[in-house]
Amino acid sequence: MSRTIERVVVASGNRHKVQEIRDELERVAPGIVVVGLDAFDGVPEIEESAPTFAGNATLKAEGIAAWLAARGEPGSTHVLADDSGICVDALDGHPGVRSARFAGDHATDAENNQALVRALRARGLEHSPAHYVCVLALVRVDGQPCALFEGRWDVVVRTEARGTGGFGYDPHAWLEQGTRTVAELTPQQKAELSHRGAALRQLATWLR
Ligand code: IMP
Repeated sequence: MSRTIERVVVASGNRHKVQEIRDELERVAPGIVVVGLDAFDGVPEIEESAPTFAGNATLKAEGIAAWLAARGEPGSTHVLADDSGICVDALDGHPGVRSARFAGDHATDAENNQALVRALRARGLEHSPAHYVCVLALVRVDGQPCALFEGRWDVVVRTEARGTGGFGYDPHAWLEQGTRTVAELTPQQKAELSHRGAALRQLATWLR
């Protein structure tokens, strides 16, 4: 059986995430229309109060689906929410679900990266194994849940930063071989290796 999705609203205001998701979805499901939340006015802020990536992805997907339903979006439109972050071994898995807010609410990527460097150095460390996690929650606007997809990417975080690509912690996230950071990869290379790419490939399999 194959499933068809014609229109997907990506429940994220992070334009980097939306771009990575759009690129991959358009590749695996040609003809799909992928819309970011920046296409809408008055989008409600969904509180990410769950302790897990899956819980927060579900809260975001269901919250945006209910809001879209109330403003007349067809029930067959799908909402895809991404909750993701980095879990650092030496920091007992932190920042985890608080990755976007490691340096405080509304922190910038630069502030969060400084907080990461400070946290490592406070433990006398210049590097630690870590992994990125991405959970995608897919629901329909009529409230029907569809599925959750999860991807993981093992990296090494270092206080040393390099590269200008990607977003978030990518300049401090080194490939396990230690030669390059995620911020030095092309978008295609990142998609092939990343936690988000892995979750999106599971979504593609589910669609087929
Ligand atoms: P969310 O929007 O609450 O899911 O928070 C995601 C946060 O995790 C981002 O703001 C980044 O700090 C971090 N993050 C997630 N995915 C990536 C990635 O692919 N590269 C770098 N940082 C990421």
